[in-house]
Amino acid sequence: MKPVVFSGSFDPVTNGHLDLIKRAHTIFGAVVVVLCYNATKQARFSVQERMELLKESLSGLANVTVDSTPGLLADYMKAHGYTTLVRGLRSAHDWNHERTNAYFNKQFDPALETVFLPAGEKYQFLSSSAVKEAASYGADISAWVPPCVAKAFQKK
Ligand code: ADP
Repeated sequence: MKPVVFSGSFDPVTNGHLDLIKRAHTIFGAVVVVLCYNATKQARFSVQERMELLKESLSGLANVTVDSTPGLLADYMKAHGYTTLVRGLRSAHDWNHERTNAYFNKQFDPALETVFLPAGEKYQFLSSSAVKEAASYGADISAWVPPCVAKAFQKK
């Protein structure tokens, strides 16, 4: 079976993302984590920093690789021959957003299928933005992110 893609902006990667990636790995066997970035969007961590944090957090997992694209995800997937995209759903808000993404991805590439996994119950309220906000007030975020991300916030 071809690897599945798990995409996001990962600014930064959280334990919620890692839970999803591990579960996708268990189901599908191989996962390519794709950092999608847009040069015009402001991010807390640079693309290089986000890639390094993803790689360090996922270093123990065989058949999980990390890549990035500045362009349309559907184009990236088509160019690499990937046809399955995994996305996480935390809430009805995610669902509304994700069903639109799935619709457009199908328009861009009719072979592209989107598979949704529910967020792990411990991670339903966890987002990169909540972590960034908590960290900006000096809160302890170590329960929500891998150790390398907590360290990266301390350095900033
Ligand atoms: P995007 O900007 O594409 O939403 P994110 O990095 O915020 O990028 O999210 C990437 C994917 O991870 C999305 O499918 C999102 O729903 C999922 N995700 C984000 N946080 C969690 C979480 N706490 N638990 C499960 N899935 C999550």
